[in-house]
Amino acid sequence: MSKGDFSGVWIYAGHDGSKIDRATLELLGVGRKIAEKIGAELSAVLIGCGIKHFAYELISYGADKVYLVEHEELKYYTTLPYAKVLTDLIAGEKPEIVLFAANTTGRDLAPRIAARLKTGLTADCTDLDVGDYEDKASGKLYKNILYQIRPAFGGDVIATIVTPERRPQMATVRPGIFELPKKNPGRDGEIIQCRIELGKNEEQAVEILKIVKEERGEANLKDAKIIVGGGRGVGGPEGFKLIRELAKVLSGQVGASRAAVDAGWISYSHQIGLTGQTVRPDIYIACGISGAVQHVIGVKNAKIIIAINKDPHAPIFDFADYGIVGDLFEILPVLIEKLKNIKAKHKTLRKMVNVQFRGLTWKTIK
Ligand SMILES: Cc1cc2nc3c(=O)[nH]c(=O)nc-3n(C[C@H](O)[C@H](O)[C@H](O)COP(=O)(O)OP(=O)(O)OC[C@H]3O[C@@H](n4cnc5c(N)ncnc54)[C@H](O)[C@@H]3O)c2cc1C
Repeated sequence: MSKGDFSGVWIYAGHDGSKIDRATLELLGVGRKIAEKIGAELSAVLIGCGIKHFAYELISYGADKVYLVEHEELKYYTTLPYAKVLTDLIAGEKPEIVLFAANTTGRDLAPRIAARLKTGLTADCTDLDVGDYEDKASGKLYKNILYQIRPAFGGDVIATIVTPERRPQMATVRPGIFELPKKNPGRDGEIIQCRIELGKNEEQAVEILKIVKEERGEANLKDAKIIVGGGRGVGGPEGFKLIRELAKVLSGQVGASRAAVDAGWISYSHQIGLTGQTVRPDIYIACGISGAVQHVIGVKNAKIIIAINKDPHAPIFDFADYGIVGDLFEILPVLIEKLKNIKAKHKTLRKMVNVQFRGLTWKTIK
């Protein structure tokens, strides 16, 4: 759509019928900041059946308005009806910015809607901002431009992409990048119930016969406070025993580099980085990981990064807060032993972590 009277920031509110996606709440957090910066309202679009209670939750997490679309045919997500509903809503209400989570649903929906509205879309953004943009060639100044920031060329450059001429400005955003906003159950907001007509037409090409929930036993990296990551330096699946042991003693989770995953030493659900997960633990311990930019992108929001690597020139030390130069097969058993002793003395993990940083010397071990 070409520019005109567009205003407001929208996010698509994903859910599985029982709860709102965590990535949606993250979008509300970043959407709120963008909306405040340009003095606009933040709205969420909620589609489904029997899900009005989610609207109050979206408001408590920062939405000013919720466009609620309920219909028996929309109980489960299917691409074409959802794309039609969203396209019609956007065309009618004219938001200036529309954000989706870069999860399976967002990646399916957003490109279709952008194509139907003839506007631009940046997929998989790792950062967002908003401000003015001056086109150097024409000298033209554009206001309220969404800076859609993401790695490009395999992570070698970080590109800022803009959509100056078309509206809405659209982006999908990687889950795990932005912090969860604080919930405020007393927040006021408006729920707008939208009427839609869904006839038996080409929009309903898919009929859902049965829903089967997959039991994936995935690594829960998104909520982990401590992650111990293993890379090629771990040497094989056996080497991950030490990584798992350290993670266990710290009550943390196990992460991995793509090299370790590609080698088949650990499953993809543990992969951190550009083509894996984005995480933001309090502590990330990278063991035998060189620190390629594609890996670091996934963990740069960790509060503390500790690197264990036998190469003192490994790039991971440029990002690490604490570095241990040495062989992980010598260091990890000592560290695990020491932590077990500390843990035996201190009942709570918080105390243990505090002691760990005050008491233990995170010096370079040679
Ligand atoms: C488009 C694209 C997407 C990518 N996506 C990802 C991604 O999502 N995640 C990701 O991780 N990578 C990704 N990569 C790959 C990335 O570029 C690196 O190849 C990868 O991260 C390297 O993994 P590594 O650090 O485990 O292995 P290496 O780079 O081989 O590093 C191994 C390290 O272990 C150290 N070491 C060896 N033995 C020991 C020992 N005994 N004790 C201590 N240290 C030891 C070495 O000094 C070395 O620094 C991507 C690449 C591309 C092009």
